[in-house]
Amino acid sequence: MTPDVISLLVYTGLALLYIAPAMIASSRGARSQGGIVAVNLLLGWTIVGWWIAIIWALAARPMKACPHCARAVPAEASVCSYCRGALASPVEIARHANPQTVATTVPTSPRLPTKSPNQGFKRF
Ligand SMILES: [Zn+2]
Repeated sequence: MTPDVISLLVYTGLALLYIAPAMIASSRGARSQGGIVAVNLLLGWTIVGWWIAIIWALAARPMKACPHCARAVPAEASVCSYCRGALASPVEIARHANPQTVATTVPTSPRLPTKSPNQGFKRF
């Protein structure tokens, strides 16, 4: 390898390392993705800004879009916190892919029952 090729590889690696926080935030669909990208690109050169961006990106919860209302909800959620719609669980996805191999039963009600007004309160 010539020195030009080596320096090209080194600069490419450094550029990828520099934008790593933005790529992590994007791959996780983080709610604060815009802030992470802004801190990464505007303050990343200060090293401290890069560390803030990478920690912020790694601490961000992975999100997914609710199929009912399209709002961002945590990826591990089974019920949407906005519209109370049921979200597909990994078991349901596996059953859809291989109906014979997964025999687990999962309730498929699209909406959770609403709480009655007196639930949770004792009457005296
Ligand atoms: Zn929803």
